[in-house]
Amino acid sequence: MTTIGIIGAGTMGTGIALSSALAGYDVVLYDVSDGFLQRAYKNIGTMMDKSIERGKLSHADANAAAVRIRTTAHFDHLKTADLVIEAAVENLKTKQEIFAKLSDLCLDECIFASNTSSLAITAIASATKRPERVLGLHFFNPAHIMKLVEIIRGQETTDDVMYRAEGYIKQIGKTPVLAKDTPGFIVNRVARNFYGEAFRLVSDGIASVEQIDRLMKANGFAMGPFELMDLIGIDVNLAVTESVYHQFFDEPRFRPHLLQQKMVEANRLGKKTGRGFYNY
Ligand code: NAD
Repeated sequence: MTTIGIIGAGTMGTGIALSSALAGYDVVLYDVSDGFLQRAYKNIGTMMDKSIERGKLSHADANAAAVRIRTTAHFDHLKTADLVIEAAVENLKTKQEIFAKLSDLCLDECIFASNTSSLAITAIASATKRPERVLGLHFFNPAHIMKLVEIIRGQETTDDVMYRAEGYIKQIGKTPVLAKDTPGFIVNRVARNFYGEAFRLVSDGIASVEQIDRLMKANGFAMGPFELMDLIGIDVNLAVTESVYHQFFDEPRFRPHLLQQKMVEANRLGKKTGRGFYNY
């Protein structure tokens, strides 16, 4: 593989683009408008600056990676990609439309991956003419730093596609973990309770947002649930919760919380809008 196409230049797409470019791949980063792409290019610059400040990246490597990332608002430019990773909104219909278009456009040997947090890879693949070339590559946020990537095999995914995708994940320095095609896979299924119980503690008046985050960190977590939701995006987190809840036939353990919905209604989406459970 030499060229990685990425669809969606938001929180995850930019991190995956940076990881790929730093490992020497050419990247075509696609989003629906130039405005999103300009924001993405700026964010990638900020991520690299922080890595340079921390001594994790040299100026020369950063410059070389920046040259390898091409941004575009033209879907056709994904045609030459060997692997396309989709990181658009967490909505099955949107993803199916994207993958159907991709399977019409791309070369025969292209591999199609979704970064979905919770949706069925088999359902996404069913919208394409090549379901055997579709799999899940679930990165974690921030994608240029976090090592874990869940690799999810759809019902039709071939061994060769799995093998080549795993090779790419190792090449960019990540740790692959095979997960089954079930709602939320492994990490997001476990994480539903991390967020859900924290919401119930706050709404029952037992502890505040700040207290819960402080306690979790005192117990060794890198972040508390509310800080983490601010990083992820509260809208993205709500969409994932709703998706896991419904896919498990409205299982009460995974039910979204009204507090979550109110935050989204108020456009308090976390770091990306400057306000979430905390102000930025
Ligand atoms: P985001 O809102 O930050 O970015 C999404 C981007 O996709 C936006 O730039 C938007 O313009 C673009 N987009 C929307 N529809 C599109 C389309 N039809 N074609 C092309 N681009 C389109 O979202 P995100 O947090 O980066 O999440 C993207 C995906 O990654 C979701 O499926 C999400 O569940 C998953 N994910 C998110 C996280 C996280 O922590 N945020 C972690 C792992 C996986």
